[in-house]
Amino acid sequence: MSGAALKFNSLKEVQTTLQACRLCIQAGYEIYPRAIFSGNQSAKMMIIGQAPGITEKEAGRPFNAGSGTRLFQWLADAGIQEDWFRSTQYMTSVTKCYPGRAAGGSGDRVPSRAEQDLCRPYLEAEIAFVDPRLLIPVGRLAIGLFFPKSLPLAKIIGAEKQIDGRWVIPLPHPSGASRWHQIEANRAIINQAIERIQARTGQIFPDI
Ligand code: SF4
Repeated sequence: MSGAALKFNSLKEVQTTLQACRLCIQAGYEIYPRAIFSGNQSAKMMIIGQAPGITEKEAGRPFNAGSGTRLFQWLADAGIQEDWFRSTQYMTSVTKCYPGRAAGGSGDRVPSRAEQDLCRPYLEAEIAFVDPRLLIPVGRLAIGLFFPKSLPLAKIIGAEKQIDGRWVIPLPHPSGASRWHQIEANRAIINQAIERIQARTGQIFPDI
């Protein structure tokens, strides 16, 4: 079955199907077939990453290691606590299984277009069933789902847009291998994004 043929009736069905999914293996990709995501139907915010890394694959939860520490520091700067977010909101990615190391050995392999297409119906279904008010795509691959791929990150980070009634506020990939967020000149742009997330979160959850 191709990813495009997948149809779901509930978020639970999406998640159950994800846990058994082997579409990329059947297509010949050497991924580690364990879909990593977390969250529930009542989430109002959804983080969308690129794909799990090796520590996420081993721990079984998204943004588990160094990149998660940096991401949750950014969210803490926006007034969002990690424990609260993990237990009440939603975290997923463009492709949900660990893709393995990059051929050059530096960092993880970026999922191919074909793998992204196979996994896309899951992401679309997660967004449809959870119906979050704020989407936070993290890193170029996820950002490219919502903003033109041709635009440089410096023109996208710090911006927000509304799509289908949801706010979309992108963040750069927080991994140590990603240099962009470590450039001092980009810090002010990241701070703009954090301020936007804080403002939208305050509207969505006026009591936190
Ligand atoms: S990455 Fe997505 S489509 Fe590929 S095997 Fe994992 S869950 Fe299935």
